[in-house]
Amino acid sequence: MSLIVLIESVDGAVATASLESLGAARELVSQGFGSEVVALCAGGGHDAALLGDHGAQRVLEVEDLGAYSADGYAEAFAKVLGMQEARGVFAAATVRGRELLARVASLLDLSVYSEAVGLEVEDGSLVVTRPLFAGKVITRVRCNAPVACVSLRPKVFAPKSGQGEASREGLSAGTLEMKAVVQEILATAAGKIELTEADIIVSGGRGTGGPEGFAPIEALAEKLGAAVGASRAVVDSGWRPHSDQVGQTGKVVNPTLYIACGISGAIQHLAGMKNSRYIVAINKDPEAPIFKVADYGIVGDLFEVCPALTAAL
Ligand SMILES: Cc1cc2nc3c(=O)[nH]c(=O)nc-3n(C[C@H](O)[C@H](O)[C@H](O)COP(=O)(O)OP(=O)(O)OC[C@H]3O[C@@H](n4cnc5c(N)ncnc54)[C@H](O)[C@@H]3O)c2cc1C
Repeated sequence: MSLIVLIESVDGAVATASLESLGAARELVSQGFGSEVVALCAGGGHDAALLGDHGAQRVLEVEDLGAYSADGYAEAFAKVLGMQEARGVFAAATVRGRELLARVASLLDLSVYSEAVGLEVEDGSLVVTRPLFAGKVITRVRCNAPVACVSLRPKVFAPKSGQGEASREGLSAGTLEMKAVVQEILATAAGKIELTEADIIVSGGRGTGGPEGFAPIEALAEKLGAAVGASRAVVDSGWRPHSDQVGQTGKVVNPTLYIACGISGAIQHLAGMKNSRYIVAINKDPEAPIFKVADYGIVGDLFEVCPALTAAL
C-alpha cells in the first residue's frame, strides 16, 4: 500500500515543503504504515534522484499536465490515485497544497486532516497532531478511514536526504475538464524568499508608520538573508501586499528566527508565528503583549534599533 505525496514544483524545481512531506511519509513507512512512498508530480522533468534521495521510492509524473489549474490538477491526481493502492495521500499545507488536497479528497470522497504538526503510528493507524482555534488547542486525531489524507504544515517536518533512489514512470492525464487555468505568474520581486519557507523573518507592524517605514526592516532582512513579513494592520492599510501577512488569516510560519518590529502581539498575529524557534521583539511599549512570547525583547524605537542591529551585523 502506497503513501502518495503530491509534489509541488515551479518550473520543475521541487518546493522544500514537498521534500519535507516525502521525509515524513518515509518515516511512516519505516514504522509500518504503508509499504512505499510515491511522489506524484505534475508535468515532466522532475529530478527523480532528488525525490529519491528525500524519501520517494517511485516517482510518477503526469507528463501532459501543463499550466496549473486547481480543478484540472485535482482531477488528474484523483485519476492516478484511483489506479494506485493508496494508504495515505499527503501534501504540504501551502496555499496550493491545501487547495489541491481538498479537491482531490472531495473527488475521492475522503476526509482531509489539515495542518498536521505531528504524525505517529498507533496500532497500525495513523494519528495526526494538529492545532485548532489558532493554535489554542492541539488535537490528536486517529484516522480510521482506509486512506488517510493529510496536509503537513511547512517547516515542521525536517527534510531527510540520503534515503535512496526512486524509479520513474510517466503517465498521461488524458482529457481533463479545466474551468480555469493560470496563464501567467507575475513575480513580485526576483529572488524574494517565500515566507513559509524562510529560516529568518523580519516582520513589521503598525509601528512602522507607513510603507516607507519598512526601509529599516528591509535593510535588516537583507543583511540576514531573511524574508519580510507584516501584521494585518499593515496589510489592511495597503502598506504591504497581502502575501506578506503573518497570522491567523495570513500565513503560518515556523522560522528559526522571527524578529517582530513595531508589532503589538495580538493573538491573531501570534497564531501565525508563535512556534518560531526564537522570537525577538522590538517595541517601544514595555507592556506590549509580544514580549510575553519573545525570547529576547528590546524596548526601543524600531527606527533606532533596526539600523543599529543592521550596522552591528
Ligand atoms: C478575525 C481576525 C483575524 C485577524 N488576523 C490577523 C492576522 O492574520 N495577522 C495579524 O497580524 N493580525 C490579525 N488580526 C488583527 C489583530 O487583531 C491586530 O489588530 C493586528 O495584529 C495589530 O497589528 P500591529 O501589531 O501591527 O498593530 P498595533 O496593535 O497597532 O501595534 C503597533 C505596535 O507598534 C508599537 N510601536 C509604535 N511605534 C513604534 C516604534 N517607532 N518602534 C517600536 N515600536 C513601535 C506600539 O507600541 C504597538 O505595540 C486579525 C483580527 C481579527 C479580528
